[in-house]
Amino acid sequence: MAAADTQYDYDLFTIGAGSGGVRASRVAAAHGARVAVAEEHRVGGTCVIRGCVPKKMLVYGAHFAEDLHDAARFGWTVGERRFDWIALRDAVLADVDRLNGLYRQTLENNKVTIFDERATITGPHEITLASGRTVTARIVLVATGARPFVPDCPGAELGITSNEAFHLDAVPERVLIAGGGYIANEFAGIFNALGAKVTIMNRGETILRGYDEALRDRLLQISLLKGIDFRFNASFRGIARSDGGALRVSMTGHDDLEADCVLFATGRLPNSGGLGLEAQGVTLGERGAIPVDRFSRTATDWIYAVGDVTDRVQLTPVAIREGQAFADTVFGDQPSSVDYDCIPSAVFSHPPLASVGMTEGEARNAYGGVKVYQSDFRPMKNVIAGRNERSLYKMVCDGTSGRILGLHMIGPDAPEILQAAAVAVKAGLTKADFDATVALHPTMAEELVLMR
Ligand code: NDP
Repeated sequence: MAAADTQYDYDLFTIGAGSGGVRASRVAAAHGARVAVAEEHRVGGTCVIRGCVPKKMLVYGAHFAEDLHDAARFGWTVGERRFDWIALRDAVLADVDRLNGLYRQTLENNKVTIFDERATITGPHEITLASGRTVTARIVLVATGARPFVPDCPGAELGITSNEAFHLDAVPERVLIAGGGYIANEFAGIFNALGAKVTIMNRGETILRGYDEALRDRLLQISLLKGIDFRFNASFRGIARSDGGALRVSMTGHDDLEADCVLFATGRLPNSGGLGLEAQGVTLGERGAIPVDRFSRTATDWIYAVGDVTDRVQLTPVAIREGQAFADTVFGDQPSSVDYDCIPSAVFSHPPLASVGMTEGEARNAYGGVKVYQSDFRPMKNVIAGRNERSLYKMVCDGTSGRILGLHMIGPDAPEILQAAAVAVKAGLTKADFDATVALHPTMAEELVLMR
């Protein structure tokens, strides 16, 4: 980095210490920049504090319900089974505390100053903290993430979002989940396994729009088998608390429904309001997203933005890459930008699904000839367990060259398996390359090289 510009208090001031902000701050500091970061909630951001990480732990916790049931089929005598939500909740929250501490330590080890308060941009290169203190910085990075969107309806305040789901005092007996996306299907799997009666309602007639149709359909069928109810083409009319304390939900196209908890999982909106961006020449885009160029720079040359607040791809590893590329570009003299092609993603539903590249529908629209290979199988473990759940792997290839355009999987450990296979898809390998690889037997993953 060029010599420090002492005209400003800091070379970089980052607003928001989530995945993108922390990576950008610590890498910029390692490049020699004088860095400060402001966080009004907890260092770590959505993923670590109230998203991916605690959610995955709940998924693990919930899965024991099935595992304990299946254990008996494998000869184990399992004693009385009891589940203690408070024990799981508090173990998860304790680990969140541990991670929060590690993230703070990472920043401190890199000599990044942390302000535990809200920051807003109040003038050119000027930031004002909630305490009233004003500081200046050559570059400001906005990494404030996103927040749950709650549709407007009478009684909406009676519902909760994923933020609150991690802090419940008990597993609700009846849960109505609004939305059919990631969060809806993940929490449906968790609450259903933990004994709740779960209903998903969605405004459209599908779940997980954007994923391959065959996978979506398989998850829907398995979820129904597990006892999750679905209500499609349903919009809220209103939510009211009845005398007994339950929530009475009325919706279009369906009968009223009683629930003990309504969880909104209806998308997330960029946290861009009230930061003072417009006054500095940054006009917000659709849904409040901050428009940026491929180097994450806004229309104002000293303001940058990374992560969910830019609404490019709302995924943690993408925010981290954007933060890294920003720091390398601006403070490391290595201009770099993120490659958004072939980003793998997963839904940690029961069972999980994972995907990389084009769906069959997208590939057929983009390419003339497309060849699709599939493996529809019952995992060995499910046979003895008497669990009638079939996995589905699907490979979408360019009909001419055989290059893999998309790979889609639903079944146990699908995200673990897909991460490795995504390397091959990203590298442009073909179906023939997969066929040339000897199967690793007996595994579920071997189906990847045995598809017909
Ligand atoms: P999603 O975008 O996945 O799903 C939102 C759902 O809400 C969709 O079913 C959508 O319907 C519906 N919806 C959207 N707007 C409205 C509205 N105005 N009224 C009623 N319904 C509406 O969002 P989530 O909240 O589940 O998750 C937010 C984001 O967080 C995800 O997009 C993802 O990027 C990230 N995430 C990633 C995870 C992972 O990687 N495993 C886990 C959790 C979250 P329709 O289908 O009609 O659009």
